[in-house]
Amino acid sequence: MDNLWRVDREIAEAVWGELVRENDEIILIASENYVSEAVLEALGSVLTNKYAEGYPGRRFYQGCRWVDRAEELAIERAKKLFGAEYANVQPHSGSQANMAVYLAMLKPGDRILAMDLNHGGHLSHGHKRNFSGQIYEFCFYGVDPKTETIDFDQVAEQARRHRPKLIVTGASAYPRKIDFDRFREIADEVGAFLMADIAHIAGLVVAGFHPDPVPCSDFVTVTNHKTVRGPRGGMVLCRQEHGRQIDRQVFPGMQGGPLMHVIAAKAVSLKEAQLPAFRKYQKQIINNTRCLAETLLEEGFRLVSGGSDNHLLLVDLRDKGLSGRVAAEVLERAGISCNRNLIPFDPSSPNQTSGIRLGTPAITTRGMKEEQVRLIGKWIGKVLGSPEDDKLVGKIKRETVELTRSFPVYGALRETWRPAPPRAY
Ligand SMILES: *Cc1c(COP(=O)(O)O)cnc(C)c1O
Repeated sequence: MDNLWRVDREIAEAVWGELVRENDEIILIASENYVSEAVLEALGSVLTNKYAEGYPGRRFYQGCRWVDRAEELAIERAKKLFGAEYANVQPHSGSQANMAVYLAMLKPGDRILAMDLNHGGHLSHGHKRNFSGQIYEFCFYGVDPKTETIDFDQVAEQARRHRPKLIVTGASAYPRKIDFDRFREIADEVGAFLMADIAHIAGLVVAGFHPDPVPCSDFVTVTNHKTVRGPRGGMVLCRQEHGRQIDRQVFPGMQGGPLMHVIAAKAVSLKEAQLPAFRKYQKQIINNTRCLAETLLEEGFRLVSGGSDNHLLLVDLRDKGLSGRVAAEVLERAGISCNRNLIPFDPSSPNQTSGIRLGTPAITTRGMKEEQVRLIGKWIGKVLGSPEDDKLVGKIKRETVELTRSFPVYGALRETWRPAPPRAY
């Protein structure tokens, strides 16, 4: 990184600092992961220079032969990996993948049925301040208060009452499997399109550890940067018949030039996801999450729905007298990074919350298994048991850093990114 150190020391320091942080912290943020160095190389490539409005073979600029190749590979790999008829790999984010579907199928003011944000839904599923909530009329379903799993009677009831044009399934903070076929039945009953937003669970789906929404959904939206372990970005998968409509709404509907360096990096990560090692990785995510759930239950925590079938879990902190906000802050001081999260029927505000969300995709990428997960679960129990004990928090911080030293991330990069004063400085 000699050039970056020479040209912009402040940014070089920020990149260096983040590299060290990502290595030294135990990251339990369920939506984060570590991309491979091959993905980083594609992201940092000259493809960022190219304007390529349009699609492979039908661009509005000359000189697109190499970026066409990269995008064709990304599309082919996405279709193959997910078993989809059609793929658009240009959305800059998961929210934009959702926007493309809404724009393609709906008019402003049309009705959408989605999961309540307070029960695990996503901003782009109808939050008042999000584009989705501003443009469309949303109605919601949630979880059953007893089982804390999706209340399908309520889904059906809401669908019959509001007659939505589109039903959205998928969540950001739901620890159980989603039964997409039930959603399909309800969508068919009321004549709605079905969109499955598998932003979080896409990796589990392609590895066969979660029911697959592709056969039964009209649209499937994906983020590349969560369990799929690719660069930040989104994709829309759909049936051939809707392909052109989706393409038109991504460009020129809502985006100009695609990020060709990101699309190339998406292609790299999709290739990596076809390898047998990827399936093993997803299996370990599930085992690690199960193990974290068991350990936290032993430590006396209540988990929303009692556990987890996927890569994340939600801890209910109400009986600990701690807000999610305070819990996440003290865990950060102990070297464990997570986020505060609303739990179903949460009496607190989104700023405080009564829960934290924990996920294992990132620690699993760095090679941690049940043995390390049990340690981490016990540390969480200790820290949240005595959040005001600074000595204890400091001791656990030293222990977490020591653990991360045995599971290095980006070791080769840290060798070459040493923050030494650059030669010409
Ligand atoms: C993460 C997520 C998205 C997309 O998020 P972006 O930050 O816009 O990429 C969409 N839907 C769900 C359910 C998510 O969890």
